[in-house]
Amino acid sequence: MQHYLIRFNVNMAKKKSDAPQHTSVVNETSLAFFEKYINNPSPTGFEWKGQELWLEYLKPYIDTHYVDNYGTAVGIINPKADYKVVIEAHADEISWFVNYITNDGLIYVIRNGGSDHQIAPSKRVNIHTDNGVVKAVFGWPAIHTRLGGDKEEAPTLKNIFLDCGCTSKEEVEKLGIHVGCVITYEDEFMVLNDRYYVGRALDNRAGGFMIAEVARLLKENNVKLPFGLYIVNAVQEEIGLRGAEMIAHKIKPNVAIVTDVTHDTQTPMINKITQGDLACGKGPVVSYAPAVQNNLNKLLIESAQKAGIPFQRQASSRSTGTDTDAFAYSNDGVPSALISLPLRYMHTTVEMIHKEDVDNVIRLIYESLLNIQAGQDFRYIK
Ligand SMILES: [Zn+2]
Repeated sequence: MQHYLIRFNVNMAKKKSDAPQHTSVVNETSLAFFEKYINNPSPTGFEWKGQELWLEYLKPYIDTHYVDNYGTAVGIINPKADYKVVIEAHADEISWFVNYITNDGLIYVIRNGGSDHQIAPSKRVNIHTDNGVVKAVFGWPAIHTRLGGDKEEAPTLKNIFLDCGCTSKEEVEKLGIHVGCVITYEDEFMVLNDRYYVGRALDNRAGGFMIAEVARLLKENNVKLPFGLYIVNAVQEEIGLRGAEMIAHKIKPNVAIVTDVTHDTQTPMINKITQGDLACGKGPVVSYAPAVQNNLNKLLIESAQKAGIPFQRQASSRSTGTDTDAFAYSNDGVPSALISLPLRYMHTTVEMIHKEDVDNVIRLIYESLLNIQAGQDFRYIK
C-alpha cells in the first residue's frame, strides 16, 4: 500500500517528500542471479552446487575466497586486515531424506531440517540420486476414500509417502533411489504482483543473495573498508546452526552481522501476542536478545535512522534461533547482531518476501559497515 503511494508521489509531485522514498538496489542482473540461485536445490548437508553459483556471482566483488570442509563459502575483502567483520547468511534449504522403501515401491521419508509434513500431500518432488533427479509425488488418499471414517487423518511423518511410479522396491532402486537420497520440492521462483518474491527456501537463500549484493555495492561505490570483510554463506543452519559454528571458529571475527528471515505476522492463525507484530514491506527487523550485542545493535539502528531506512523491532527470549547465536557464543564471545527479513509462510514452498525489504536489508547492512571502525571496541564497560 505504502509503496504504491510513494511511487505515485514521486511520479506526480516530487515536492511531497514526507514519506521516506524507497531506494532500489536489486537490478536486472542481480535479480537474474537470485532467480537462478533460488531455483537450484541446496539441501542441508548438500549445498555445494548452490555455493558454486553464489561464489561465481560474488567473485567480481571480493579479493579472495575459500570453502571449508563442509561447504561453507567465505568471500573476503581485505584478507590481510587484523580486524575482521563478518556478514553472514545461511545457504541450506530444508528437505527430506528417503528413509524406507516398501516392497510395493512406495517411499517413506524423514526430515532434513524443519520440513513441514502438513504441506507435503500432493506436492511434486525431485529425488536427488547419483544418476540425477528422479521425479516423484507425495500421494494422498482421495477425499472420496477418506469419507465415512470417524475422523480426518492429518498428514504426519507416519502417513505421508512418495510415489515415483514404481510397483516394487527393486524398480525404485533401479532408478538410483536409496535410503539417504535427499528430496526437494520442484516449486520455483516467481514475482507476485510486482511486490513480492515468492519461492521455496527463500529462508535463507535470500540472505545469501543480500550479503552478495552488499559486496556488489561496496565495489560499485568504490568503498575502501578499514577492516577485513568476511562474506559468509554458511551451511547446515536448519539442523542447528552447525555451519556457522564451524566457520566462526575458523574466522575468529571481531564482529558478526547475521541476516536471516523472520515471521511476518499479518496473515491468519498467527498470534501477535506471542509472535509480535511484524509485517512484510515495513522494513528490516532488528532483534533484542541476549545474544545480540547492544552496542552493535545501536550502531545498526543509528545507521538505519541516518540513512532513512525503515525498520521494525523484535524480541527473542533466550536464543534468536539463527546463526547469530552461533557467532555470539563462539570463541571468546563475538559482538553479534541480527538483521531479519520479514517472510510469510516459512518452510512452505510459497515463502514470500517484499521486494522493498530485500533492498532495505541490503542497504542497512551496507550502511552499518560504513559506520564500523577498524579496531572498534563494543564492550559495555571499558
Ligand atoms: Zn528455516
